[in-house]
Order: sequence, then structure tokens, then C-alpha cells
Amino acid sequence: MSLTKDTRVTLNDGNAMPILGLGTYASSDVPKSVGEEATKIAIDLGYRHIDCAYIYGNEVQIGRAIRSKIADGTVKREDIFYTGKLWCTFFSPELVRKGLEQSLSDLQLDYLDLFIMHWPFSLKPSGAEQPTDLDKAFAYDNVDFLSTWEALEACKDAGLVKSIGVSNFNRRQLERLLSKPGLKYKPVCNQVECHVYLSQSKLQAFCKSHDIVLVAYSVLGSHRDKNWVDLSTPVLLEDPVLAQVAAKHNRSPAEVAMRFVLQKGIVVLAKSFSAERLKKNLGMFDFELTPEDMSTLEGLNQNLHYGPFKELKEHPEYPFHDEY
Ligand code: NDP
Repeated sequence: MSLTKDTRVTLNDGNAMPILGLGTYASSDVPKSVGEEATKIAIDLGYRHIDCAYIYGNEVQIGRAIRSKIADGTVKREDIFYTGKLWCTFFSPELVRKGLEQSLSDLQLDYLDLFIMHWPFSLKPSGAEQPTDLDKAFAYDNVDFLSTWEALEACKDAGLVKSIGVSNFNRRQLERLLSKPGLKYKPVCNQVECHVYLSQSKLQAFCKSHDIVLVAYSVLGSHRDKNWVDLSTPVLLEDPVLAQVAAKHNRSPAEVAMRFVLQKGIVVLAKSFSAERLKKNLGMFDFELTPEDMSTLEGLNQNLHYGPFKELKEHPEYPFHDEY
């Protein structure tokens, strides 16, 4: 069966996730209204999976975009798959539902399709209030993600979210979660950085063996926000091997970078706030990489994390000390 923008993957709880998602993170200098307009355009173009998060500070605008496309009849609520993320300062079990309700209220939606723990580590707000935007003022906290998970299970039981999952978990952390006594729901997904320089084959195999879908972020080589990404790292879309494969297929490097992840059987998130690139990126469904192309691109892997969150590497739950 050929893959299209309407293809969905069935999750281990029976729900279904579109295999292409729109990324919505942008640095704070980008007006939030730009993401709102881009989300409307993306829905018009046929994107049905929207990836966002409380800490991106834009759920009001992204929710408004979704609701406007429901109001004008382009989609129904059930056509949209919305992913939200529990920020690390909401990990205390009594705060989990509050964090979710804040997102629902900002979005003006009745439920989320998927709610995931943004990272495996817990943090304390740097001031008296919860952070409203991603900043670098971190204080470690030590809430065990197993207790957070129980509170997430309760949110699913309450009908506020259809599915629950995790993000940025390594194998050891997934194993700990899967072997939690009394586990009611397995995570449906693990959303992680994944691209030609970080192909995640071992983590993918582990997740597959437990029926957990891998969802890839930074497929295009990340936002390269200087506050978060070491700008001495190579620019993925300028890779010469990627360019050769792209030229061979008469496609852009972005389409090939996305197609590579898709053909590995991984759900692709890609962010663009440009109408032209949103449209162009859908071209990844119109061609196929050969097995030789796939192995050539697999050869680019160098386990490079663009977003390693190095500031947190002393946190006991920092996920990237392990090989995968
Ligand atoms: P991506 O790898 O998706 O790259 C986005 C960048 O690529 C933008 O600068 C975009 O610019 C540019 N771009 C898009 N299409 C093209 C194209 N055809 N040619 C050239 N450049 C292009 O970045 P992200 O790191 O943002 O990851 C995607 C999403 O994943 C995020 O937005 C977020 O939703 C999620 N994410 C989740 C994380 C987590 O911890 N769970 C961490 C990081 C991201 P432009 O907009 O101008 O087109």
C-alpha cells in the first residue's frame, strides 16, 4: 500500500495517528500569529496531525487556527490529531491534570488526541509561577516519572485525552515504565529527535518490539535556534550526499530527508511556517527511495543530537548518556 498524507498508523490503544505531523515550535522572536496562519494553511493543504506543546507558548493561536478550520467546514474535530505535551514543571501527580486543563483551556478544545511527557526529567519553575515560554532558568526536581504516568492514565480514563505517550525517553527509561507494577496503559509513542544524522535504528527496534510508535522530530535538521542548537553542527539540508540523492530523484533535500524517516516506518514531524514549503514538503509522498538510497542515507548516521539539552546533563533522568 502506498503511503499518502492521509495514511494513519494504528497505536497500541487502538487510536490512529497520521504519519505526517506539522511541527509548531518557533523561537520567541517569531510572532505567534505566524504559526496560527501557517497552521490554517497546513490544514487547507491536508495536514491532519498537529504537534504542539504548552511550553511553546502558542496553544492559544494553534487552537484558534484549528477551530477556525472546523468552523469553516474544512475539517471536523475528529479529522485532526492534536498532540500536546506535559511540561517538566507539571510532573507532580497533583499538577498533571492542571497542566492538561491549562492546555485544553488555551486551545479551547474538549480533548487532546495525544498527550505526552515532554522529557523524562522533572523541573521546578524558576519563579512562583509556571513558565509560559521556553526559557533557560532550570531548577532540578526529583518527581519520579512513574507517578506522573499514573496521573496521565487518569487523564485518559477521564476522557480528556485519547492517547498517552512519552518523548525523549531512552531505552532504560522505557523499560522502567513498561515494567511499572500496575501499569494500566503502555505509552503509544516515544517522540524523539530522528533524522539522517541520528537514525535511531536501535531505539526504533526496541519500540517496535513493544508496539510503541516512534515519532521523529527535527527531521529537517532542527530549527537551529541559537539558544538551543550548537551552530557549529553541520546543516543537515546542506549535506552533499543528501543533495546527490535528491538530485537523482529530482526532489528537494527536505523531501528526501522526510522520505527517509517515513520509509524507515517512523512518523514524521516537520515544521514550516512558509506556505510554499508546507506544500513542497508534501512531495515526500510522491516518490520512493530505493533500498540502495536508504542504505546510503543510513550511512550518514553519526548519532548527532541537535537539541541535546546539555544544561540538564547532570539531572539523574537526563536521557542521552546511554547509547540509546
Ligand atoms: P525541523 O527539523 O522540522 O526543521 C524546521 C526548519 O526547517 C525550519 O527552520 C523551517 O523553516 C525549515 N524548513 C521546512 N521545510 C523546509 C524546506 N522544504 N526547505 C528548507 N527548509 C525548510 O525542526 P524542529 O526542530 O522544529 O522539529 C519539528 C517539530 O518537532 C517542532 O516544531 C516541534 O513541534 C517538535 N519538536 C519536539 C521536541 C520534543 O522535545 N519533543 C523537540 C523539538 C521539536 P520555515 O518555517 O521557514 O519553512
